[in-house]
Amino acid sequence: MDEAIIELYETIERSLPRKNSQVRRAIEKSRLTIADILAKHANPDGTIPRGKVNVILDEILALENEIYRNLQRELRLVLEDVAQKTTIGLAEAIIAYIGISQLIEVVGLPAALAELTIGVAEAVFSALTGTTYRNHVNSSVNSAFNRIGEDGLVLNDRIRNIAQVLRNEIEVTLRQSIRRGEGTTEIFRRLEQVFSDLSWRLDVITETEALYTLRQTIGKFAEDSGIFKALKIVDFPHGEPGEHERHKCYIYAHRDEHGLGEGVYPVGTRKIRNPHPRCRSVLLPVLIDGLE
Ligand SMILES: [Zn+2]
Repeated sequence: MDEAIIELYETIERSLPRKNSQVRRAIEKSRLTIADILAKHANPDGTIPRGKVNVILDEILALENEIYRNLQRELRLVLEDVAQKTTIGLAEAIIAYIGISQLIEVVGLPAALAELTIGVAEAVFSALTGTTYRNHVNSSVNSAFNRIGEDGLVLNDRIRNIAQVLRNEIEVTLRQSIRRGEGTTEIFRRLEQVFSDLSWRLDVITETEALYTLRQTIGKFAEDSGIFKALKIVDFPHGEPGEHERHKCYIYAHRDEHGLGEGVYPVGTRKIRNPHPRCRSVLLPVLIDGLE
């Protein structure tokens, strides 16, 4: 079963570059909005009349909210996808490795589940957790949005911050370019740089929250289902050489804080769900007695 869960983590991890570009594209849309605004005010030769600076910057103000909303929407989609794949993968792994008959015998799930031919995984999931796939997915995604980081910020604050920085950089660039009498082609080249300078910050958010959502989806299942007696955090070395040993995931994974074994924590433990930004660690289930 551990292998099935690790495979699930790897599938999600492999999809991260695609998810990063999906979120990056959400802000790229705003470049088109800027192009429209500039085109409206440009001279026939592509330069922008200096007297139009303030009108243009006024229109750019509204961009901050557009960026914020687009980012929020896209991140939610990305996290929903992670939570969905994790929920379904988890339910399938449990059926494949524990088996419905053991769940009926040991956990006392309704015997009628053995007769089902369609929607088996979802029915077993609901019987174990008392909730639906849909609710489980929503709860994981909401948890990513509501989690307060060590800096006291929630996800929406981080997105808002990126939207503010981006709008501000756009403003500075436009002000300078128009003053220098640069044409729209040159302005677009500069703006492209402004957007790409910020994309690494977006990637950190996307990867951190996607991997958090994955661990949260498993942690919440462990709490709701009662078939895991604990969760074992397994760290995968990442980052620069020598850096990993300072990661909290490494520390948590090599400690026996509860006398349950190295890296083994009660299912409700929060800190192992997000040891640090961009953490690659995984949570593996420790099954209750009788189910191993
Ligand atoms: Zn880590």
